Amino acid sequence: MTTTTKYIFVTGGVTSSLGKGIIAASLAKLLQAQGYRTTIQKLDPYINVDPGTLNPYEHGECYVTEDGAETDLDLGHYERFLNVNTSQANNVTTGRIYQSVIEKERRGEFLGKTVQVVPHITDEIKERIQILGNSGDYDIVITEIGGTVGDIESLPYIEAVRQLKWDLGDNNGIVIHLTLVPFLSAAGELKTKPTQHSVKTLMESGVQADVLVCRTEHELPEDLRTKLALFCNVREEAVIQSIDASTIYDVPNLMLNQGLDKVVLKKLALNSSKPDLTQWNQFLQRHKNPKAEITIGLIGKYVELQDSYKSILEAFIHAGAENEVKVNVEAIHSEHLDTKSVKEKLAHLNGVLVAPGFGERGIEGKIEAVRYVRENNIPFFGICLGMQMAVIEYARNVLKLQDANSTEMDPNTSHPVINLMEEQKHIEDKGGTMRLGAWACQLKENSIVKAVYKQDVITERHRHRFEFNNAYREQIEAAGMIPTGVNPDTGLVEVVEIPSHPWFVGVQYHPEYKSTVANPHPLFVAFVKAATEHKTK
Ligand code: GLN
Repeated sequence: MTTTTKYIFVTGGVTSSLGKGIIAASLAKLLQAQGYRTTIQKLDPYINVDPGTLNPYEHGECYVTEDGAETDLDLGHYERFLNVNTSQANNVTTGRIYQSVIEKERRGEFLGKTVQVVPHITDEIKERIQILGNSGDYDIVITEIGGTVGDIESLPYIEAVRQLKWDLGDNNGIVIHLTLVPFLSAAGELKTKPTQHSVKTLMESGVQADVLVCRTEHELPEDLRTKLALFCNVREEAVIQSIDASTIYDVPNLMLNQGLDKVVLKKLALNSSKPDLTQWNQFLQRHKNPKAEITIGLIGKYVELQDSYKSILEAFIHAGAENEVKVNVEAIHSEHLDTKSVKEKLAHLNGVLVAPGFGERGIEGKIEAVRYVRENNIPFFGICLGMQMAVIEYARNVLKLQDANSTEMDPNTSHPVINLMEEQKHIEDKGGTMRLGAWACQLKENSIVKAVYKQDVITERHRHRFEFNNAYREQIEAAGMIPTGVNPDTGLVEVVEIPSHPWFVGVQYHPEYKSTVANPHPLFVAFVKAATEHKTK
């Protein structure tokens, strides 16, 4: 096999949640900053076809790409670090692999052969890994294998890596194994045994790690590195420590200081140079030296989980740095909000964001939050369900359409100001059937969004079934809530604003998915600015 693309496989050992995605993204950043066209792919061993059907409690936020793929939240990190779009090809699950193999079997493509995990499933995995490499768009493809080495689910993936490393030949495919080096406080020692075992487990599947990245809470002393190198068959320079960082955005520099990029490039027989991180470090500089501080309320129903609103939290970090403002995000559970508690919970905030979401639970609290900030001139930003709540609140409290609702929450409402699109009415399958991916939106003159985007037509990513009901558009507009962004092809309302309020913007799309370190999202930047101004008033 001849290839020009180089492959890096990232596996995880000992435990989950070691931050493989951040290590992969940080390495990719260092390679990209040396001129290598780099992309990252995530292989997830679960049997769901995609995470679109997974509860955020199970799997955190579902990230959406330009081409409408519902993906793992790690793809969000890849885009935020690299500022390059990912696509369906960047996230593959076992469900998708099997679906594709079974469809081929039904079409008779295996010519009567018995279809097996090896070679048919592993071939499918290898093909999916190489789709990005074969596109000619990348010099280096980093493939992150979800799960932990030794899991039953991971076996076909590790086997595919073993085969592919062999097929690709020397210097074309390497394995980085991410492990944990725990500190036992009773013994006062860092322990290498879990790492030794995890490297051995990998070797039982015929895969030798080329580089070890060791997650640790304390500095790894020299003798411990020597020991790990000796027991795990890697060079000492290839034992990299990954110490806890105060922000994920520090990790590229930490990896640079450890020489991860150098070791990797050497193993791949590629030249290394000093990565140009000027823009990245300027961002860090601004992020770490804020000149002011604000508090934004994030109203949602998954607030106890950091990962459920990942992209929104990261977008605030980017927008905060851009404004040189520290943004404290106060998560407020919408089920804890009612007419009585709303003032006490929201009065001190400089801005309020009502989050995306599905289903009935907690929506009355969200509507109450919108009412409070609308009446008290607190900057408001509603995203997807948050925008729908703003429309419902306006219909109920300003238009006096008492039982106005979304048909998602109340199918029998007499005022369905948010309802199902015609083409959604006949859909029965839940997976992959929402309005997904990038859609165009035409912006109205003299609006906040027009001033923010400085463009007539924008595209933003969507993930929803329900829409602003245009039967109510005239009434709502006459009462002072203005549709300022509309899909030019379908006439669907994508943005609403209230011009009599200092900063009130609801968007049907998800701007948070497109915010990156290099390109903080302009709407988040403007919202943080409005909240900062609100505070100083
Ligand atoms: N549940 C709403 C819908 O399906 C909003 C979805 C969302 O916030 N992503 O339209």
